[in-house]
Amino acid sequence: MIYLDNNATTRIAPAVLQAMASVWERGPLNPSSQHAQGRIARSILDQALAQIGRLLGADIEKPGGPQLILTSGGTEANQLAMCGFGDSHRPLVVSAIEHPSILEMAKIWKAEGREVTFLPVDKHGVVSLESLQQTLEHRSGESPLVCLMAANNETGVLQPIFKAAQLCRAAKAHLHVDATQAIGKIPFDFTALEIDSLVFAPHKFHGPAGIGGLLIAPHIPFKAIWRGGAQQLGMRPGTESVPLAVGAASALQLACDSLHQMQAEIQPLRDSFEQQLQNAIPGLVIHGGLAERLATTSCLGFPHIDRQSMLMGLDMNGVCCSSGSACASGSSEPSYVLQAMDVAAETLQGSLRFGLSKFSTPVEINDASDRIINCFNRLRP
Ligand code: PLP
Repeated sequence: MIYLDNNATTRIAPAVLQAMASVWERGPLNPSSQHAQGRIARSILDQALAQIGRLLGADIEKPGGPQLILTSGGTEANQLAMCGFGDSHRPLVVSAIEHPSILEMAKIWKAEGREVTFLPVDKHGVVSLESLQQTLEHRSGESPLVCLMAANNETGVLQPIFKAAQLCRAAKAHLHVDATQAIGKIPFDFTALEIDSLVFAPHKFHGPAGIGGLLIAPHIPFKAIWRGGAQQLGMRPGTESVPLAVGAASALQLACDSLHQMQAEIQPLRDSFEQQLQNAIPGLVIHGGLAERLATTSCLGFPHIDRQSMLMGLDMNGVCCSSGSACASGSSEPSYVLQAMDVAAETLQGSLRFGLSKFSTPVEINDASDRIINCFNRLRP
């Protein structure tokens, strides 16, 4: 099996598994318990949180500094942010290509009569800063909540977060960044970017599934959504999973340590993958190919092909990929991300996403290219 669906989720790194196992082996660990075992749990958890904060450029140990809230994953962290920061009088501004965990909420809010703006993207899949600026000017004094992803999950296209942050600061808007696809793949410094909140999910960078995080800049008012115990300052009540937090910290450490090496190795691999396919398939389109994008993502439009048939054909031939966001799979509609990019109909229907990882090898990539070309040749009209 050749696994090229790493934007959906990644294989756990052996060192991460080991780090988590050693914590699980320490017995029951509830950081809120007042006995010795609870104190051990608290200490391990706090160390893991501090390590995650440091690696993301946020000193969460500093009194009055940023806060890190653990969640069950990227979806919950995004929704916690939207509900925690977005009171009903606050206009919401989202890009048209956000992940469903943001977009579906935005659509519900709009249907409920709240002020919601969807920002367009250009044909390369980059959000229009001009539209953001115009919207912020139009909503001046209303302190909007702006949600922008750092990298798109389907195309891997990087979004202009730095410039968006400058515009939002000038307009006194809250900028929430969904960095679920970007963290662990590109350098990220929360404090230097001066954004207000950030989401990450370790299962995207060889860490465990079932945990995610919301990082919040100092002094940002937050409305608690759930009720329960006092864990995580009451912002996300419930017992924290110490082993998962350690797994998250360990995966982030590994990812950050090998960031430059990984980029240097994966990009040529991804480029050679695309080159081989382009040489064999006339009219193949690389969505977002001219934009800055993640080295691990290749979103390809196969001309005059039905993507579901191609996906199934590849699956039967041992290649795992996807037809868009895993969260939207099962939908028969073509990708809303590619539609927002105005992708031509003949490739829109035949678009698939391939996601590489640091475990992808040249042999695998060459093999996958051959299988994809064969599958395309069998299916094409
Ligand atoms: N945001 C983006 C950009 C994603 O790619 C994903 C997952 O694919 C999510 C949020 C949701 O993350 P999770 O699956 O951990 O809930």
